[in-house]
Amino acid sequence: MNSDCVIIVGAGPVGLVAAVSLIQNEIPVIVLEASADLAVDLRASTFHPPTLDFLDELNLADGLISRGIKCPLWQFRDRKKGEIATFNLSLLKDYTNHPYRLQAEQWKLTEAARKRLEESDLAELVTDISVRGFEQDDDSVTVFAERKTGEKEVYKSKYLVGADGARSTIRALTKVGFPGLTIPEIFLSLSTPFRYDLAIDGLADISYISDPDEWLVLLRTPTLWRVLFPTDPNLTDDEILDPIRIEDRMQSLLPGAPYEISHKTAYRVHERVADKYVHGRVFLAGDAAHLNNPLGGMGMNGGIHDAVNLSSKLTEVWHGAPISLMDRYERQRRKVAIETVQAQALRNRTVLNEKNPDKRKAYHDELRKIVMDEDKHKQYVLGSSMIKSLQDLETVE
Ligand SMILES: Cc1cc2nc3c(=O)[nH]c(=O)nc-3n(C[C@H](O)[C@H](O)[C@H](O)COP(=O)(O)OP(=O)(O)OC[C@H]3O[C@@H](n4cnc5c(N)ncnc54)[C@H](O)[C@@H]3O)c2cc1C
Repeated sequence: MNSDCVIIVGAGPVGLVAAVSLIQNEIPVIVLEASADLAVDLRASTFHPPTLDFLDELNLADGLISRGIKCPLWQFRDRKKGEIATFNLSLLKDYTNHPYRLQAEQWKLTEAARKRLEESDLAELVTDISVRGFEQDDDSVTVFAERKTGEKEVYKSKYLVGADGARSTIRALTKVGFPGLTIPEIFLSLSTPFRYDLAIDGLADISYISDPDEWLVLLRTPTLWRVLFPTDPNLTDDEILDPIRIEDRMQSLLPGAPYEISHKTAYRVHERVADKYVHGRVFLAGDAAHLNNPLGGMGMNGGIHDAVNLSSKLTEVWHGAPISLMDRYERQRRKVAIETVQAQALRNRTVLNEKNPDKRKAYHDELRKIVMDEDKHKQYVLGSSMIKSLQDLETVE
């Protein structure tokens, strides 16, 4: 393949969706991925309605939907009192072709996207290769990469997309600031074949459960239930992941027979947005550009929205539009990252975590009032499902 292409660093959901979108627009791509294979562990597992609409345009939605669970309802609960408010995404039927959240593991998307690249003459996916550096001039970007064996390789392209995740090398090379904060608690994500839906009356498949001592999230995937607990950062990883301690926590949530734990991961969560997404002919997208807590499931979804926006503008630039068009990509998507994704994710954590009884009551009363009023309910789910963030983009010049 010659240098008349776009190089994408990272074969996560964002890099692969950008690649599929570009080849659909007849633009050749090379995707460079450090790992030997695509990640198949349990990471993000929620697809919001507009993300499914975008994936549909790329012919990636049907396969994913057939392997996931459609969830028109999601819930806000109190750990002791039960249901507080149940939100209904069916209210969005005039705004989206997919008025539900889809619960499906992100690897099902990356697997389908990889297949699309493999079937195309316009795409090359190279694995086991890490990008270490780049140089750019007025016409091209030269990318320096290294194989696991130590062998060096040089690629040339017209543009470079850094979709290389939270620890992005491309972001580091651009020396762009990545301000924000690190959430104090560690997030412990567990999964179990235990059927919470059969054990807890009226439980929705996606439930955010507030508690002044230990909030949690219960999320259903096609084969498992996921439980997300905040965890004391003073514990070591071994202590957090200790099977006895985990069993105690599961029992305190719902006493019963010993729980089978299928996966367990403990991770630190950051809330950060890169100061710039555009650096000449080099663009950042997805976790490379912004990180946030998973409460609300907006991280991967926002990244996929970046990928679609970026690919559409890059296609215009490819066909002669001025490269300054990419600055609008940055203005639009940074605004969403700060004003929607980060703000909403932080607010979700505050609501779940609130310890002051008066404030907790006020939050809960507010949520109850919202679901009772159809218009307010609709406005709320337009926001939480990220449709509003996409509508608002039109006002960003
Ligand atoms: C362990 C883990 C658990 C998570 N759990 C959840 C969750 O429960 N809920 C949730 O909403 N979100 C979760 N996330 C976040 C979610 O997975 C991300 O938001 C999403 O994957 C972002 O996609 P991305 O394509 O931007 O980045 P990634 O999926 O991180 O993909 C980046 C890719 O770039 C590759 N790469 C990195 N550096 C280089 C390099 N120098 N050269 C070449 N390739 C490189 C990496 O190998 C990786 O494949 C989790 C993330 C992780 C890592």
